[in-house]
Amino acid sequence: MTDISKFKYKYELHLHTNQGSKCGHNTGAEMAKAAKEAGYSGIVVTDHAWGGNTAVDRSLPYEEWVRQYIKGYEDAKAWGDENGLLVMFGIESGFQGTEFLIYNLTPEYFMSRPEFWNATIKEQLKLVHEGGGIVMHAHPYREEFYIPEIRLFPDDVDGVETINATHSSHLSKSHLGMQYNELAIEYARKHNFPTCAGSDVHSTIMFGGGILTEEPLTGSQDLKDLILSDRMYLLTDGDRIYDRYGLLLRDYEA
Ligand SMILES: [Zn+2]
Ligand SMILES: [Zn+2]
Repeated sequence: MTDISKFKYKYELHLHTNQGSKCGHNTGAEMAKAAKEAGYSGIVVTDHAWGGNTAVDRSLPYEEWVRQYIKGYEDAKAWGDENGLLVMFGIESGFQGTEFLIYNLTPEYFMSRPEFWNATIKEQLKLVHEGGGIVMHAHPYREEFYIPEIRLFPDDVDGVETINATHSSHLSKSHLGMQYNELAIEYARKHNFPTCAGSDVHSTIMFGGGILTEEPLTGSQDLKDLILSDRMYLLTDGDRIYDRYGLLLRDYEA
């Protein structure tokens, strides 16, 4: 039996700011503060890149685009450094509605590789790996107007975001559908994929999703190592808790 009480540290792995994402409502600093108040030990800022709903003018030269894109992360990090919240850099990249969460790249690496801009999904995965990062398929089964079709890339990703709190939290007002998480769990099991969870929050109303760990994370590299290891961590949408394989450990109590 997994003892839930041992997993004391919570990390939000899917979060947007209004500096990087057009659909974001709050600054990085506001998001970091809200996360800290909601009990998180850390967050990854995963703003939408140019293939998604970026807040930054796509006509800018690549480097300048990245410089502006990372402002949400930098803002969150400055707040986190002062107030004891671990803030990590991430990216949510998009390809005609299919989205990927990228962890453990540095902003410097991202800025130094303009090939990212025109990369296909396969090429992008290669670039991420060359920079030491990992790619998790975000909410692979979400059905929404901006996603023309469900496309899976089992040979090209490192893992899958199985629990997305926007689909299932009682606080979420969009993209609701518990089945999107259930299908993602099935997909991950079929391919033996590492998994992750996040809230996909766009405002300071924190859904409470993310992963729960026994030991505090030290940074992005540690997060990557954990996801690729066989050590246990838990997944949550804020209402329910699952083990990393998607087994429900605690159900929602209203
Ligand atoms: Zn968004
Ligand atoms: Zn997102």
